[in-house]
Amino acid sequence: MSSFRDIPLRLATRDRRQDQGWATLGGRPQRQPADSTGLSRRPTFPLRLSPGGPTGSLSVLVSPPSNRRGFDVSAAYRVRVSKDYLTFASAHFITFQGHRCEALHGHNYRVAATVEGALDAECQFVIDFGVLKAVLRRLVEDIDHKVLLPTKNPKVQLREEQGRMLVDYLGTSAYVFPVKDCALLPIANTTAEELAAHFAAEVREQLRRDGYAGLTALEIEVEESFGQSATYRAPLP
Ligand SMILES: [Zn+2]
Repeated sequence: MSSFRDIPLRLATRDRRQDQGWATLGGRPQRQPADSTGLSRRPTFPLRLSPGGPTGSLSVLVSPPSNRRGFDVSAAYRVRVSKDYLTFASAHFITFQGHRCEALHGHNYRVAATVEGALDAECQFVIDFGVLKAVLRRLVEDIDHKVLLPTKNPKVQLREEQGRMLVDYLGTSAYVFPVKDCALLPIANTTAEELAAHFAAEVREQLRRDGYAGLTALEIEVEESFGQSATYRAPLP
């Protein structure tokens, strides 16, 4: 049985402006969605007015903590996009410590994105899935069926001559590719980790341009092959 002493304590938190929001609801405590006014119902709790008296429950309409754009900052959500078409088949090689350089080879990569943040008070989502899918799709299509080359690797020199990309490794000619088949990336090595960080920077910039607010973190996962992936995580904005 509920304690009689609980009642004054709860009533003390009652706000006159919220009187209309008080409701007597039966059943177990449950979370309820925000209504059209942007107010959220806190879980309902059984209420006994007096020992042996009528019983019921109550819920309180409260205005959740929010920032200036109306995002509920008291709760965090995570959304993830991982689609079959968010893939790219590309060639690459990475450099190791010392003078070791991997031979040219390829992977069927796959990309996934996770975004965390508050719920948009109007749309009730963290971010439109379509926005996330579109930016990822553009990124993978840009490098699909291409040779991935790092522009920030001190051991790798890239020179473009007459439609050809000359790739030197430690001053020695290593490869020549058609320029149109190359994707130059502003990273130091074409590892899954660096690719993930590169994608994250691009996604982050797109979200900034789109004016998304209320987002707190972004994760990009790049799977190089089955069971072999790297994830980059960065705070937002
Ligand atoms: Zn590889």
